[in-house]
Amino acid sequence: MTEKLKNIAVLTSGGDAPGMNAAIRAVVRACSFYDLNCFGVYKGYEGLINNEMEPLNARSVRNIINKGGTFLKSARSKAFMTSEGRKKAHGNLIANQIDALIVIGGDGSFTGALKLSEEFDFPVIGIPGTIDNDINGTDYTIGYDTALNTVVEAIDKIRDTASSHNRLFLIEVMGRDAGDIALNAGIGAGAEEILIPEEDMGIDRLIDSLKKSKKTGKTSSIIVVAEGDKSGKNIFELGEHVEQHLDGYEVRVSVLGHIQRGGAPSCYDRVLASKLGVGAVEALLEGKRDIMIGIVHKDVTSIPLKQALEKRDHQHDRLIKVADITSV
Ligand code: ATP
Repeated sequence: MTEKLKNIAVLTSGGDAPGMNAAIRAVVRACSFYDLNCFGVYKGYEGLINNEMEPLNARSVRNIINKGGTFLKSARSKAFMTSEGRKKAHGNLIANQIDALIVIGGDGSFTGALKLSEEFDFPVIGIPGTIDNDINGTDYTIGYDTALNTVVEAIDKIRDTASSHNRLFLIEVMGRDAGDIALNAGIGAGAEEILIPEEDMGIDRLIDSLKKSKKTGKTSSIIVVAEGDKSGKNIFELGEHVEQHLDGYEVRVSVLGHIQRGGAPSCYDRVLASKLGVGAVEALLEGKRDIMIGIVHKDVTSIPLKQALEKRDHQHDRLIKVADITSV
């Protein structure tokens, strides 16, 4: 493919994540550096179906490395889930003489990219851009570090009010399938308890543990709850349950929600996005396709896109123990 590689298209898809702009910038500038043409597709797969793309040059991406969100916009496209939608998208790639597509997004976006490759033999490369850090084959996804810092900052502020009023706060953070944000931000912000989707702590154990903490002299508490925790109750029901079974605390619930996606990307995310964006273009130049570019032990690596969609082998045991020890 190296000989005929001339035109590359890039899009952002799924939930936006801080650092996506830095990744687009790196792709565009790597294309410029290696004398390739780069096209930006607006609104993810939806824009691909509607042929919303335009050429980008090194100057088109000035002043965006520090901006959250994605200037190409992102979208969730129902039409791309259908074979007619994908046929239209492929037709537009061919009509614009695009040789390969770089998709910045999460596992859903990669599933779509893989279908494009399998159905039309079209080369694709995935760059993991999602705050959840839930992708196999990379230690970090773009946006995760920034989201962690946002969550820690928010919890620090909530702690001020919790300790002033002897309150117990349940704070819901993002993570339907992965507890990475909850666990790491929970440890970083000194949470008393952390509930994650990968481990079912059981409500009784939670209450016992909170009672024990109170006996040791704690007057306020922070419990970090990932969206996908396994208690079987939503955060408000969980709050009511804790209030009914624990004396001496006022219980409050705070759902952090979309603030976790916003804000200027951290330096780590900017550098990560830059490395992965350049890595994606260089991989195409080396003739690679249908892979995801990731970071493993600080090295830029690649794995087949199919493998990136497999379940992650992420061991949280050590972190859970650290959380238990540091919250006594
Ligand atoms: P995040 O992790 O932030 O949610 P994501 O990439 O997983 O990001 P999704 O909404 O799951 O976000 O997927 C983004 C888009 O990818 C979808 O709107 C759809 O267009 C496409 N997509 C997802 N799953 C499939 C599928 N099975 N077949 C074809 N396209 C898909």
